[in-house]
Amino acid sequence: TTHLVWFRHDLRITDHSALHAACQSPDAKVIALYIATPGQWQAHGMAARQATFLLQHLQTLQQSLADKGIPLFYQQCDDFHQAVEAVDAFCKKQHVSHLFYHYQYEINERDRDRALEAKLHGQVVCQGFDDSVLLAPGSLVTGKQEMYKVFTPFRKAFIQRLQEMEITCFPAPKKRTNVDMGTLAALTPFDYPQQAVDETLFPTGEQAALARLRQFCQSTVADYHQQRDFPAQQGTSQLSPYLALGVLSPRQCFNRLRAEHPTLLEQSDGGAFTWLSELVWREFYRHLLVAWPRLCQHHPFVAWTQQVLWQQDEKALAAWQQGKTGFPIVDAAMRQLNGTGWMHNRLRMICASFLVKDLLIDWRAGERYFIAQLLDGDLAANNGGWQWAASTGTDAAPYFRIFNPTTQGERFDPQGTFIRQWVPELAKVPDSDIHQPHRWAERQGRALDYPTPIVDHKQARQMTLAAFEAAKAAQ
Ligand code: FAD
Repeated sequence: TTHLVWFRHDLRITDHSALHAACQSPDAKVIALYIATPGQWQAHGMAARQATFLLQHLQTLQQSLADKGIPLFYQQCDDFHQAVEAVDAFCKKQHVSHLFYHYQYEINERDRDRALEAKLHGQVVCQGFDDSVLLAPGSLVTGKQEMYKVFTPFRKAFIQRLQEMEITCFPAPKKRTNVDMGTLAALTPFDYPQQAVDETLFPTGEQAALARLRQFCQSTVADYHQQRDFPAQQGTSQLSPYLALGVLSPRQCFNRLRAEHPTLLEQSDGGAFTWLSELVWREFYRHLLVAWPRLCQHHPFVAWTQQVLWQQDEKALAAWQQGKTGFPIVDAAMRQLNGTGWMHNRLRMICASFLVKDLLIDWRAGERYFIAQLLDGDLAANNGGWQWAASTGTDAAPYFRIFNPTTQGERFDPQGTFIRQWVPELAKVPDSDIHQPHRWAERQGRALDYPTPIVDHKQARQMTLAAFEAAKAAQ
């Protein structure tokens, strides 16, 4: 028998459910496949940086699988439709008897897998696994058998379920010797734009991700609840790019956290519990995608918000994208995103709120821009974050709660340490004026090489409230 493991966003060999299952039989030949689909990625707006990060991880994956005697074959085709044809042809050519893979929860991915299983029916035994989540979507429901719409009861039920079950991680497979490794074709770059990833921020590989996880759980996490909102601190794990591509599994995160904090599930606050809550947010958004697939098509969860009359303001959108709004915290954050592919969570909330509530620009323009830049781009988390900030989602910020970008900056970057890292034009502005630098420049009679604010927050706030109220009244 020949067992095929189809790798997608699960680029690791430790704690890999499908790989582990495929290797259970000592006699089976185990081979692996990765199919790049640049046309599909284009349609999904994937960031060039994420494509580069993916390629780097594929290269290390090919090596670590080869060390285990498992060849990773690589193909490129345009989209998911062609990928189904390619897997079918590959299975025939390699006489594959069993296919092992991990479920993906987005709508196109699910359609692809359904089509593939139908095509292989009767020829190849297919086995799918819920692997990118701690609990399978659909397995945690309310008393009415529905998906939770509110996070806090979801988290409560989630943690109760974790208390009742054992979460185990699978080891990497043992070395196999029954497949001729031949000479594997080197992975060629995808026909997709590439953009360099800063290796000092995000080193490549499963081992690097595991080391970061261990280090975070041993030290930083203890103060996570106090530090996580301050972008000038290294207070969060920065593991999201690895989780997004499945270089790390959520089970590895949970088990490592619990190993360092054994009473984790009996707690209700503190650093470790707060970090676990973030992992549960990640799951919440994935479960929502499966319960309401229209979220993948960028429909708002709350239907009446569809009626909000957004501004078509290309100039303001461009200023936001480039970090030239004249609001230092927003600009520093957008430049961090453009410069590294990662943005701190507090800043994602501030920037998303600014685009939607200060510029009254459709949240979907922001969602698209984030995905096109993010190294950790993930449809569920990004859509969830945007719909939260735009007040269009389930359990979202209410529409009348509007962040003031200046006071957010004052609260979360009081000395402007973070701002100064990304907005060198403000280097000379004293701490006390860093959030409203033009006031200082005026007092000093100086000219600043930095834009004046592109909106008046107070006026923008009134306009946004009116737009949401009109949409609500029209429902
Ligand atoms: P930590 O604070 O260390 O959290 C640990 C892990 O939990 C993260 O790596 C991530 O996988 C998960 N997580 C944390 N917060 C959230 C959250 N609010 N929702 C879902 N998962 C979470 N996260 C992405 O992974 N991809 C995205 O495309 C994405 N887009 C976002 C867009 C907006 C507008 C907002 C407000 C948030 C978005 N997030 C996204 C969530 C969050 O900002 C990032 O996961 C987090 O900043 C990553 O940094 P970290 O790894 O240091 O997180």
